[in-house]
Amino acid sequence: MRDLLSDAARRATRYRETLAGRSVVPTPEALRRLTLLDEPLPEGATSPEEVLRLLDEIGSPATMASAGGRFFGFVIGSSLPVTVATDWLTTAWDQEGGQEVTAPIGAMLERVCMRWLMQLFSLPSGTGVGFVTGATMANFAGLAGARHALLQREGWDVERDGLFGAPPITVAVGDDVHVSVLKALSLLGLGRGRVRRVPTDVQGRMRPELLPKEKGPMIICTQAGHVATGAFDPLAEICAAAREREAWVHVDGAFGMWAAVAPRRAHLVHGLSEADSWGTDAHKWLNVPYDSGLVFVREARHLRAAMAVSAAYLTLPEHRQPDEYVPEMSRRARGINVWAALKSLGREGLAELIERSCRHAAFFAEGLGRAGYEILNEVVLNQVLVSFGSDETTRRVVERVQQDGTCWCGGTVYRGRTAMRLSVSSWATTVEECERSLAVMLRIAAEAKMR
Ligand SMILES: *Cc1c(COP(=O)(O)O)cnc(C)c1O
Repeated sequence: MRDLLSDAARRATRYRETLAGRSVVPTPEALRRLTLLDEPLPEGATSPEEVLRLLDEIGSPATMASAGGRFFGFVIGSSLPVTVATDWLTTAWDQEGGQEVTAPIGAMLERVCMRWLMQLFSLPSGTGVGFVTGATMANFAGLAGARHALLQREGWDVERDGLFGAPPITVAVGDDVHVSVLKALSLLGLGRGRVRRVPTDVQGRMRPELLPKEKGPMIICTQAGHVATGAFDPLAEICAAAREREAWVHVDGAFGMWAAVAPRRAHLVHGLSEADSWGTDAHKWLNVPYDSGLVFVREARHLRAAMAVSAAYLTLPEHRQPDEYVPEMSRRARGINVWAALKSLGREGLAELIERSCRHAAFFAEGLGRAGYEILNEVVLNQVLVSFGSDETTRRVVERVQQDGTCWCGGTVYRGRTAMRLSVSSWATTVEECERSLAVMLRIAAEAKMR
């Protein structure tokens, strides 16, 4: 066992150490070699050493180097080395993280993280917190809490009786809602298609004056951090409008919610603490390994009522059981990595990580803009949308940037315009890596223009 685990640590260390020197995108040859693993079910055994060797020799080269500093696609954070290390140790412990009795350390660190996170995001005391797999499940759990609370107010027990025959709930979403929120709504029986779509402005921000006016149970799904522009819905105005309607406000803050911890960005989330539920990711901007998300519900009892297996949810027990606030029963004790990130960074380190990513994004926007390319969004956070001319030219530039391998950026269509989308959310990104990546983008864009 000692040799096997040491070999794994050696291979993993080598992988991380050599990331900076390799192409961000795997080579076509590395991808072709993946088929070597596509074999019939083995009848006999293979030694553990051989299993690990196969995975490393075939798998490692076929990875996207998104854990490095020059991956700017989607919104994908890396993982802080300390969180990789604590993830290894936690995996070796192999604790069932759902209950305090099977994972005392997991339950303890969840409680500690809860306190820290509520302080970082200025959430009210009494907030319930669940450690889930990502923002999709955070949105699901938060909206399940909303569904419970609103229907309980109408005298309907949705956990017991389901939705057939229940009083209807109006669900409002911004026209730029993230697809994961629609998925969560569909899982909850609230439907993707029956939502009321509220028009948004040019940056994708919900226009609060156009919220539905009617009375009755209503959930308003807001967004802190638009996945293309980085823009924030005007949370304070929306929460004020919601109070008049006695509506529930949910915030999808998958990455943008972390703006709250950086003093120079915190104005973007003004009003955040007035919402009723929040979902965010730890595996994006907090830079912990997959999979890790966080759900918060202002009144813990609503989240617990929606998630606990037992119907005895009328009083909150003295002792918090981790599995009573999330969809899963058995699961890894994933709060431990969140703790490791927060403990190692501290509030100041985390604020600097957020601020630094935003500075890098501004650097890209400035450099691309100075070269004459159009920046399509207001760069308020870590997201940049750039057009290199015609849609056709932009598509070509995105494709060549991806093939080049120095960095990786995605393509998108925003408001009918094809754009290259950059997201800076890795702790590992440095000024030098931004300069190197920008130089490649400019060279490729100039070549595309000459064609
Ligand atoms: C990434 C993202 C999600 C979904 O989060 P997962 O962790 O992938 O489940 C939801 N909303 C926004 C705004 C996101 O950026």
